[in-house]
Amino acid sequence: MTSTSTGVEPVTAEDFREILAQTRKFVRTVVVEREREIAEENRMPDEIVEQAKAMGLFGYAIPQQWGGLGLDLAQDVELAMEFGYTTLALRSMFGTNNGIAGQVLVGFGTEEQKSRWLEPIASGEVVASFALTESGAGSNPASLRSTAARSGTDWIINGEKRFITNAPVADLFITFARTRPADEHGAGIAVFLVPADSLGVEVGPKDRKMGQEGAWTAEVRFQDVRVGPEALVGGSEDIGYRAAMTSLARGRIHIAALAVGAAQRALDESVAYAATATQGGTAIGQFQLVQSMLADMQTGVMAGRALVRDAARSWVAGEDRRIAPSVAKLYCTEMAGKVADLAVQVHGGTGYMRDVAVERIYRDVRLLRLYEGTSEIQRLIIGGGLVKNAQRGQ
Ligand SMILES: Cc1cc2nc3c(=O)[nH]c(=O)nc-3n(C[C@H](O)[C@H](O)[C@H](O)COP(=O)(O)OP(=O)(O)OC[C@H]3O[C@@H](n4cnc5c(N)ncnc54)[C@H](O)[C@@H]3O)c2cc1C
Repeated sequence: MTSTSTGVEPVTAEDFREILAQTRKFVRTVVVEREREIAEENRMPDEIVEQAKAMGLFGYAIPQQWGGLGLDLAQDVELAMEFGYTTLALRSMFGTNNGIAGQVLVGFGTEEQKSRWLEPIASGEVVASFALTESGAGSNPASLRSTAARSGTDWIINGEKRFITNAPVADLFITFARTRPADEHGAGIAVFLVPADSLGVEVGPKDRKMGQEGAWTAEVRFQDVRVGPEALVGGSEDIGYRAAMTSLARGRIHIAALAVGAAQRALDESVAYAATATQGGTAIGQFQLVQSMLADMQTGVMAGRALVRDAARSWVAGEDRRIAPSVAKLYCTEMAGKVADLAVQVHGGTGYMRDVAVERIYRDVRLLRLYEGTSEIQRLIIGGGLVKNAQRGQ
């Protein structure tokens, strides 16, 4: 395997096989069994949270020098395909630590910032949230209005963020705020490490969502929140926008893998149902129109899996960190939406009933086309990137 983007040696193939096997066992024998309870109670059972911590899942993508498992993105996606096999709330619980929030620190933090925060993030002692989105600044985060103003050597942060994953349980907000209007030197956006217990940080009530019960989001308000100079990520006012875009691009390949895992589960549920449920004494899987649906699902899953692996390999090798992540996210999340829809169709009326896995999957995967860049934004990145490359003569 090639080296990771952090320059740290990746986990050996043998160790990774063991990590993957344990993860698969945990997902399929522990979490799948409790999916209904998680959905009904809208919370992750404490034992599952503790087991995930003990297995290192809060820090699988954090380098080993800071207590993480140190998986590279090619390994990360294999794990993500396993996480996708059950309620997506499982992945959400540690998704921000490993992904959008944690990677800002891994990629852009100073040595002091990494030493202070990455170990508790990797162990799960600290839950980190990524606070970028605002009303009117979702698809276009460059237009965010939260501000960070200097006060001596400190910074005073004001603003309102919405839809922030894990906010109700967060210990640390990776918070994006404007230090100046955008100008010819850049977007004017910096990123700060804001402990959740800072004076002036207020987390709203949990959002009532369509799906992914057990995963929580909320609004976060920052009112005259004072942080010291050590809170400015990378010690630079100009890192924020690039850090957000890099972290999101990496996250897109991970989300694509999650979508493949969910689609695989929807397919497996559908094949099992088609093989056993009958109409007029005939298994519905004998009907060629049902077989056609299964065939389309299987084709989507296999194409998605191949695409995810190729995009992850390309990321690790440093070949394409812009177009391929968007291609993978666009294809796989749209594919998972279609597969989940077909899975409900294969199940007939049963598929519309609560407590049937495909009904939950249908709602859970809808989010994948919205966050970390909508499908429309992925198309703009892909199309715009291709034209730009052509103009540069690449
Ligand atoms: C459950 C959940 C969890 C989330 N977690 C986080 C989190 O942890 N941290 C965080 O910062 N954010 C988070 N988000 C926010 C998420 O990333 C945004 O919702 C998403 O980027 C879309 O932004 P928006 O909601 O403002 O929609 P809008 O940007 O208003 O989009 C509305 C529609 O307009 C389209 N559109 C917008 N701009 C363009 C354009 N230029 N060209 C063509 N079409 C366009 C969109 O594709 C979409 O169809 C989360 C959202 C949800 C729902």
